[in-house]
Amino acid sequence: MNTTWDVIIIGGGPAGSTAASTLRQAGRKVLVLEKEKFPRFHIGESLLPYNRAVFEDLGVWPKIEAAGFMVKRGAQFWMGDGSIRTRLNFSQGSFTEFPESIQVERAKFDDILLRHAEELGAEVREEALVTEHRIEKDRVTIKFRTKDGSEHEAQAAFLVDASGLTNFTANREKLRDYYPGHKKIAIFGHYSGVQMTEGEEKGDILIIRRKNSWFWMIPLEDDKTSVGLVLDQADFKALNMAPQAVFDDAVLTTKTVQDRMINARSISQGHVLSDFSYTNRKLVSDRVVRVGDASGFIDPIFSSGVMLAMSSGQRGSKVVHAALTAGKTMTFAMRHYEWSTRRNVSRFWQFIEKFYTKHFAQLFFQPSNKFRMVCAINCALAGRTRMSFATWWRLRIFFALVWLQKRFSLAKPIEIG
Ligand SMILES: Cc1cc2nc3c(=O)[nH]c(=O)nc-3n(C[C@H](O)[C@H](O)[C@H](O)COP(=O)(O)OP(=O)(O)OC[C@H]3O[C@@H](n4cnc5c(N)ncnc54)[C@H](O)[C@@H]3O)c2cc1C
Repeated sequence: MNTTWDVIIIGGGPAGSTAASTLRQAGRKVLVLEKEKFPRFHIGESLLPYNRAVFEDLGVWPKIEAAGFMVKRGAQFWMGDGSIRTRLNFSQGSFTEFPESIQVERAKFDDILLRHAEELGAEVREEALVTEHRIEKDRVTIKFRTKDGSEHEAQAAFLVDASGLTNFTANREKLRDYYPGHKKIAIFGHYSGVQMTEGEEKGDILIIRRKNSWFWMIPLEDDKTSVGLVLDQADFKALNMAPQAVFDDAVLTTKTVQDRMINARSISQGHVLSDFSYTNRKLVSDRVVRVGDASGFIDPIFSSGVMLAMSSGQRGSKVVHAALTAGKTMTFAMRHYEWSTRRNVSRFWQFIEKFYTKHFAQLFFQPSNKFRMVCAINCALAGRTRMSFATWWRLRIFFALVWLQKRFSLAKPIEIG
């Protein structure tokens, strides 16, 4: 086989740049094709403590630390009427190794990761839109278009698809399955003048539960907060209102948010994005590995996206490196990658699926740390994907209690919204 590159990566977001850095660390020749010019806006600003492990492995942590992002020590979950709240304090989970995380403006964060991959020797071509991929017996051929409109072709032994929600290769191969009941829409923007938590709780993300929707409030800087509303696409359509009007109306009717936004002023354009949870039926095939959102996407309520993207970018590129070393196009390790990626997603999905139910809310918002169950929840939601038995059985008990709550009302009833 005679190809220019060992691996071509579609997309230079967190999954793509993690894969590129990891492959460079292994000495592979890597081409990253990214359609945008970085730095560029992206949503997904609240990270999880377990992201840190990947930062360390990539050697990028000193650059991230030097960028001075807001430190995040906890995640707070509020009822919209302010009647009840619960806080996960990452430093107090007895099974959680990393006590804190960061809130990031993705333009800056993604640029640091991509430039790091470049410094490690990856060739990065921005404003290069991938338009076609072809998997052949002895190579992968990629067609892409650059800013000046010219068409190009590149060949590699392997393709890593890190194209995010574009889901490039899986869409072309019709592999996408949506999770039923999780077709959402997100309306969001950046604000100044939002009253966020202070002191020990400074930097916390606030998630505010409404009856059938929720808000996020993410402090990015001392006077810059990302605020977003996530609601069912069907509810949005039924309202028959402009997105900003839906957002403003939801702020006015959600006491917890309204109180904090009394003096808020919009400092960015508003954004609207479909937020449909999906999975792809195949994450690996001959010469192809899908990572990050291009492997699947889940509702962002627990801020899991970037951590899952970087973790899959790292694991996915390691199995590609091993396959190249073995001279194979498909390996057992690639299949194991698919299995472990699905398992990592399912760790969050079990919480997401239940989050919208009343019986889950009744236990989650009134937690008991009996048997250190809150510590186990803390650990799972901090992004620890390699569960010890100690956390595994505690989580099983928690979900058994959620099941029982539906039938027998173990916890005090609470109003949702
Ligand atoms: C409303 C919302 C809120 C979210 N909030 C959070 C949060 O708080 N915390 C969190 O961790 N996650 C959050 N997420 C999820 C997070 O945004 C993603 O999981 C994360 O960005 C995935 O990284 P990625 O590298 O896989 O994809 P991306 O970051 O999307 O990167 C993909 C890249 O591929 C490029 N690309 C796409 N197609 C092509 C092509 N054909 N040719 C060349 N380049 C291409 C794109 O330009 C992009 O730069 C949120 C998501 C949504 C929708």
